[in-house]
Amino acid sequence: MVSEAPRFAFTIDATDGKARTGRIAMRRGEIRTPAFMPVGTAATVKAMKPESVRATGADIILGNTYHLMLRPGAERVARLGGLHRFMNWSRPILTDSGGYQVMSLSDLRKLTEQGVEFRSHLDGSLQQFTPESVMRIERNLGADVIMQFDHVVPGQSPHDLAREAMERSVRWLERCRSAFARLQQEDTLAPTPEQALFPIVQGGIHADLRRASASAIQGVDDWVGYGIGGLSVGETKPDMYAMLDVVNEVLPRNRPRYLMGVGFPEDLVEGVARGVDVFDCVAPTRMGRTGAFFTTTGRRSIKNAAWRLDQSPLDPSCTCVACTRFSKGYIRHLFVAEEILGLRLLSLHNVHFLVALMREARDAVLAGTFAGWSRDWLARYHSRSTVS
Ligand SMILES: [Zn+2]
Repeated sequence: MVSEAPRFAFTIDATDGKARTGRIAMRRGEIRTPAFMPVGTAATVKAMKPESVRATGADIILGNTYHLMLRPGAERVARLGGLHRFMNWSRPILTDSGGYQVMSLSDLRKLTEQGVEFRSHLDGSLQQFTPESVMRIERNLGADVIMQFDHVVPGQSPHDLAREAMERSVRWLERCRSAFARLQQEDTLAPTPEQALFPIVQGGIHADLRRASASAIQGVDDWVGYGIGGLSVGETKPDMYAMLDVVNEVLPRNRPRYLMGVGFPEDLVEGVARGVDVFDCVAPTRMGRTGAFFTTTGRRSIKNAAWRLDQSPLDPSCTCVACTRFSKGYIRHLFVAEEILGLRLLSLHNVHFLVALMREARDAVLAGTFAGWSRDWLARYHSRSTVS
């Protein structure tokens, strides 16, 4: 599968306002941007086979360092051939750094300059993350793009706390870079082609800190891409959008920007409008398992009794397998009867919806119609944007 393609090359094909469309060429395949990455938390996009994920048009998926480190363990994944072979996904994979999961899932025991000590949410065992250990874990998992270990704080954190975490994240980035360089000289357990390491912009909802972070990480190295972290963690949407405006002014224009953990439809459209190229979010599959689904006129619940006799698809404009073959009346029945196929179909539809949304955005940028397209899209989506 390793071809002559470059390790990582980003080409911008067109821009429209701040929105851009292009391609990231990598050895395991090309990523068309703007792109939505489905999340494969535990080496599976929940309830979806790899070929079904690919059939949605997804070019890249995300694996979670925190979850895979705890179970089955990064070394075991490496001994089983690396993450691509382990889960049978031959295209690009990105692994996050675990910084967000340590904050949100684990019982955090101690945070020092060295790293964090925490208790596993699975069995309570004491674990440690340092920039060096996370680089080794991500090396063993073998993803194509790996993220630095960072210090994430809640979205509404005050300036002093956000500053401390941002500055620590820059220091940890330097340690990640050194560890990453050392690891590349070592033999690995799994066949790992060259990986690309992304730094992460932090700084909470404070414009000066975001600016400082985006500048400081550029001083550490000439990175091939940039993560924007610590958003969608409790702050308001206007605050998040304002930070994107600030950050994307400072980041180099010829490098892709990845907005981490943000992926509701309206966020994707607003993010692309502010120059973001890549997104990920667990929402489509998590919502799918609880009966919620996206439509072009807002979010709905399949459990609604109004669908009992409804022969129409989840979304008339969607071309996914769920929408082209099954009715809302049938899928509602599957949920009521607690049949597994119901949550599989909704997960598939929701992932397809976001991947297709990014395809529409790419077409609009290429056509030079992004401003009008995004305005119309958001107006329609918000026209009845309640769970019903
Ligand atoms: Zn669909």
